Amino acid sequence: MQLPLPLAALSLPTDGSILPPPSHRIFVNRSLRMDRIEWVGFDMDYTLAIYRQDQMDRLSIEATAKKMVELKGYPEHLLDMEYRTDFPIRGLLVDRKQGNILKMDRYRYVKRAYHGMRELSIEERRHLYHTKRLRSGTRRYHWVDTLYGLSEISLYAAAIDELEKDDAPVDFERLFDDVRACIDLAHRDGSIKEEIKNHLPMYVKKDLNLGPTLHKLRSAGKRIFVLTNSYPEMTEALMDYLLGDALPEYPSWQNYFDLVVTASAKPSFFLEGDEFLEVQEDGSTKPATKLERGAIYMHGNIHDFEEHLGVKGDQILYVGDHIYGDVLRAKKETAWRTAMIVQEMDVELEALSRCTEAMDRSDNLHEARATLLHELRARQAALKEVQRAIDANGGSTPTELDVARVRHRKAIDKLRARIHATEDEMNALDDELEQAFHPFWGSLFKAGQEVSSFGDQVEDYACIYTSCVTNLLSYSPLHYFRSPRHRMAHEV
Ligand SMILES: [Mg+2]
Repeated sequence: MQLPLPLAALSLPTDGSILPPPSHRIFVNRSLRMDRIEWVGFDMDYTLAIYRQDQMDRLSIEATAKKMVELKGYPEHLLDMEYRTDFPIRGLLVDRKQGNILKMDRYRYVKRAYHGMRELSIEERRHLYHTKRLRSGTRRYHWVDTLYGLSEISLYAAAIDELEKDDAPVDFERLFDDVRACIDLAHRDGSIKEEIKNHLPMYVKKDLNLGPTLHKLRSAGKRIFVLTNSYPEMTEALMDYLLGDALPEYPSWQNYFDLVVTASAKPSFFLEGDEFLEVQEDGSTKPATKLERGAIYMHGNIHDFEEHLGVKGDQILYVGDHIYGDVLRAKKETAWRTAMIVQEMDVELEALSRCTEAMDRSDNLHEARATLLHELRARQAALKEVQRAIDANGGSTPTELDVARVRHRKAIDKLRARIHATEDEMNALDDELEQAFHPFWGSLFKAGQEVSSFGDQVEDYACIYTSCVTNLLSYSPLHYFRSPRHRMAHEV
């Protein structure tokens, strides 16, 4: 027998009038009934812990450039080069062979490209990427879909511009591999982590709603876990900073969580994974015989995890920011439901609301152009007909055919002029629209009129998506997230 829900009124689908404002809204790709979710899991970095992107990128770029000069023999002026942390967005593809950075639509068609920080012309783009299908899964291309990875692109683009000032040819492939190796080194030798740990407020934003959000879920009977790739020490430092003194009912950050898994090595956790280890008081580890509240674990694998939880995969909601590590693997390998944190939503939504009118105008222009092109083809066909009739008459042209020919030619000239004018206006407006979203790449989710490859993945793998974890506070923990009806081209 189905029992009535304790908070039945709150779990009803919301109508438009009681939706939270767009910046607090949760968007739905696949319907999700929160009353059926038993466990809610969270990734930590860029999900529970929101970093100050610009500060983090600067720290990472400067430490990496230093390593490149010291260890890889790059010229010293690399240390003083100019770079822009606002250059990259998520979802870009690095072409290691050419030293180019690309943005694609969902069909892997390159819509924008930069060499270093110089935008490629349409001719250059066509020559390099449009004559053959781009094979994005190969070693030549590197896909960046994490906020953590953005500094690689800032640094790579800036280094290309800087090194091309010298006259020697640049090995773009080697340069990219060196950038990646040196970033890893800078992160591995602990200097970046130490700096962050010692100055948490400088690098991590504290959202005062985090404690109340987790509390609200717990109050509705949900169990909560952390599943992070960060190591125990960093996890403790960050979580203590974020939640240590958030609510008096929770004296320690650990009180919020029923399970804490660190160093989980996602996405491998979702595939074969490893044995669970339990972290001891002194920091050493021992094999875990069970998974318990209050302890901190390392490594692990989904199989043992689900067995311990004793719930079915579709009763688990996992909230993460990384398509490949968190959302795609969870979705592909398991029945877990997924929520994706897309911090960039705020900028995106703000640009959308500013551009509604201009977007309508752009749609109208695209439509007008299509109609004009259609008229042009019809006129051209009519002209051909007339020409054929004139040719058939073998030189002695009846006047009415001559008149028709002149009329069609005039109309064609007029149509061509109108098409050009429409295209000029359309292109200028589309550029302006893209600029409103991001000065270099336009919208994160769109590539021209199409969905971007990033947007495509969000649609495919995230059941719901939103700008931050604390947006859950605007909804009942039993909310029914209902997806809008999907429309295919023939239904629109
Ligand atoms: Mg993360």
